[in-house]
Amino acid sequence: MNMLKRISALILSFITLISLISCGKEKEPEPEEYYSATFFAMDTEITVKLARRTGETDEDENALFHDEAYLSSVIKECANLVSEYESALSRTKDDSVISEINKETDYFFDLDPEVLALIKESNEISELTAGAFDVTVGTVTELWNVTSDGADVPSDESIEEAVSHVGYEKIETDGATLRKTDRKTKIDLGAIGKGYALGKMIDHLRASDVDYGIVSFGGNVGAFGKKPTTGTFKVAITNALDTSKVIGYVFVDDEFVSVSADYERNFVKDGVVYGHIFDPETGRPAKSDVISVAVLSENSAYADALSTALFVLGTDGIKDLYKALAGTDVAFEAVAQLEDGSVYLTEGLSGDGGFEEYKEPETTAES
Ligand code: AMP
Ligand code: MG
Repeated sequence: MNMLKRISALILSFITLISLISCGKEKEPEPEEYYSATFFAMDTEITVKLARRTGETDEDENALFHDEAYLSSVIKECANLVSEYESALSRTKDDSVISEINKETDYFFDLDPEVLALIKESNEISELTAGAFDVTVGTVTELWNVTSDGADVPSDESIEEAVSHVGYEKIETDGATLRKTDRKTKIDLGAIGKGYALGKMIDHLRASDVDYGIVSFGGNVGAFGKKPTTGTFKVAITNALDTSKVIGYVFVDDEFVSVSADYERNFVKDGVVYGHIFDPETGRPAKSDVISVAVLSENSAYADALSTALFVLGTDGIKDLYKALAGTDVAFEAVAQLEDGSVYLTEGLSGDGGFEEYKEPETTAES
């Protein structure tokens, strides 16, 4: 780590500490109580809820205590871990590894093995998804810059130019070296980086003395351990047609849920919504029959990458990929909301205990 990185890491951990102190603890209105803290990293709000069973009360041997000193120190470690990944993987931080690769000056880069492995894994997912997920989409995301003030639809020529540098085959890995065959190709790990960092965070929590917990990381959720009452964690899936509502719930048992949809990062021009997930082939916001998709997987990075891919591919792609990955260690389940508001479920969620559809409470007419 060079001096600049050390200083910025120090500043980041200090900022994280302050935000943890200021966010403090918050009581969950559920029978099981969590120690909870929220911090901001990787362009998103991260909430960590943890429980540690002590079994030392007179009344109930399963009672939970907030071991606040311990749990807050574990959350601080998680925040530091995420900051490290943000420093390495961010596309917008000038001194990140990814920014280094994205400079148009060179073809060869000696990389940290972990970053290289993540890019290699991303390219494998691109192959699996016929390029629907493609981290070389960077020139396109940079051009559209959908979350910027005054975002607008780029010209056809500029979209064509941006797309000409997209293609996972333009990135090759060999030993510790990454090679770009197109100097202008840019990497954007926005569709996998948060999931990857969340997976690492949950690994860290599993190795700690925390009994169970749940982490919400933008569109990604990860849960570990068993809740004493229900065993699994119930995760609500937002209704993409009315984000104040939910379409239903999935039950998460030592696994991850990643949602890809356009309702949060987008801009509207002449009544048309332009979202942040792109079709790498056209360089334009992806448009399939799916308006939101939640992927459940034991692998956090895969859950994240696949949700993005499935949003691009639509229900036919979901069916094909479901078959292709069934029985592998990256098998998944998915809940997709379609443009007509209906819900498509993969087989494993179709039966009892899979997906609980939200039902409007019955209203009784009052006279
Ligand atoms: P997610 O919210 O996980 O679906 O990721 C979307 C983010 O990933 C976007 O904000 C872009 O930074 C990037 N991205 C957009 N389209 C793609 C794509 N087809 N493949 C890979 N990354 C993408
Ligand atoms: Mg994703």
